[in-house]
Amino acid sequence: MTGSGTVRPFFRPLFAVILIALAGALFFRSLPREAPIERRGFMMGTAVSIRALADEETLEAAFGLLHSLDETLSAHLETSEIGRVNAEAGSPTRLSPQTASLLAEALAWAERTDGAFDPTLRPLTRLWSGDGQNHRPPTEEAVARGLGDIGWKRVRLDGDSLLLEAAMGLDLGGIAKGHAADETARLLRERHVASALIDLGGNIVVIGGRPDGGPWRIGIQDPRKPRGECLGVVEVRDLSVVSSGNYERFFEWEGRRYGHIVDPATGCPADSDLSGVTVLSERSLDGDALATALFVMGREKASALAGELEKEGFAFILAGDDGTLYASPSLEGVFRLESKEYRLEER
Ligand code: ADP
Ligand code: MG
Repeated sequence: MTGSGTVRPFFRPLFAVILIALAGALFFRSLPREAPIERRGFMMGTAVSIRALADEETLEAAFGLLHSLDETLSAHLETSEIGRVNAEAGSPTRLSPQTASLLAEALAWAERTDGAFDPTLRPLTRLWSGDGQNHRPPTEEAVARGLGDIGWKRVRLDGDSLLLEAAMGLDLGGIAKGHAADETARLLRERHVASALIDLGGNIVVIGGRPDGGPWRIGIQDPRKPRGECLGVVEVRDLSVVSSGNYERFFEWEGRRYGHIVDPATGCPADSDLSGVTVLSERSLDGDALATALFVMGREKASALAGELEKEGFAFILAGDDGTLYASPSLEGVFRLESKEYRLEER
């Protein structure tokens, strides 16, 4: 027993130091982080950012999830699941359970919005955007042909089995970012993130409040002003805030602006008397579909549907192109109008 006795006096303090250092490291890791970290990228055709009280590994996982959702849901990637399904139009095919349930949600919103939201617009969105390559509008004949190949009621979805008529095609671009924001929030919550702001090109989901404890403050872009100029602010916790309008993505041809939201009734970019729509909701998927749909519907129809949906907990900010602004009654104390160029109106 003497051999170990000669070693001990030297190792004991060293062990003690190592143990204390380890315990200390574990203790500090388990403490809530004080400073948020932020990561930015470009995905789903838009700028994305996540700010969170989290570690690098968690944000890495969140960006990995976003990347894989983009690669699954993108309509203009031939290798995506949607790309494959569109190529197989005309014959029965199967969807992954996640994509099948997302399509079912999209079809439900199509029904609820009387087709203003339509996940089958690929034949038209391909014409109008050319996946971002087009810089001039398509011909009337091409639009008429495209109109013949759309229609959410023609989709046969039974569980995971899908049948699209030949020449039809899915475009889930109007709901994918919302879904991706929800999934990202779920991942962060599973990893016990208590404070985060997920921004997928204007599809925002916040978890908890700001790191300092106050609510998140989200500026609502003034649709008639350069990017960054807000018409007002909402203060929220644990909520989705989605804004839509033709101010973000469009192309110009011979002095006219062509937005990327298509009116399924005309086959052309929506010519709306709303300039911007913001939806506050639990799920970003719903907010995303609705923001697109209400924009297409225009002020009168959008107001009527908003009135119904307010009873289900949704809230809206509708900016008219004439400077009128509607904000849901539940936004009292949540939304603050800051621009002097808008008049708040009752519905
Ligand atoms: P925003 O840029 O305002 O967030 P979204 O990205 O939510 O708009 O929706 C626009 C995208 O949705 C388009 O790029 C297209 O892929 C698809 N889309 C266009 N019009 C419609 C529509 N009426 N219904 C459903 N999806 C649409
Ligand atoms: Mg949308």
